[in-house]
Amino acid sequence: MDSLSSSLAGLSIRTEKKYGSKSDQGPKLTPYQGKNKCFGEFKCQKCHKFWASPHSWANCYQECKGCSSKVYPFKQTKLEHSGEERKTLKPHPMELCQKCQQFGRACWKSRARF
Ligand SMILES: [Zn+2]
Ligand SMILES: [Zn+2]
Repeated sequence: MDSLSSSLAGLSIRTEKKYGSKSDQGPKLTPYQGKNKCFGEFKCQKCHKFWASPHSWANCYQECKGCSSKVYPFKQTKLEHSGEERKTLKPHPMELCQKCQQFGRACWKSRARF
């Protein structure tokens, strides 16, 4: 019976290394992961409703008007900055847009940088 081996056995070596400190970004919920606004195309899996929105953001859902499901865009297309942007300043229902709710204001009035 030596005291050294018994004290070693009592040691529990913790090797918990924390991953994810490199990038704090959450899971990729949308095809686009940048900071700009996109043209998003949504399809509700529940009621198969389809809609498109020129105010689609990375990792932001919009609620389905039919069944209130939270739907992430399956496709996102970059908006061209060619003066066409003004046409996309159409308001949309804020209560259906995660981005509007996050910022507490109309997301389509926001510029790319916050
Ligand atoms: Zn739906
Ligand atoms: Zn919005």
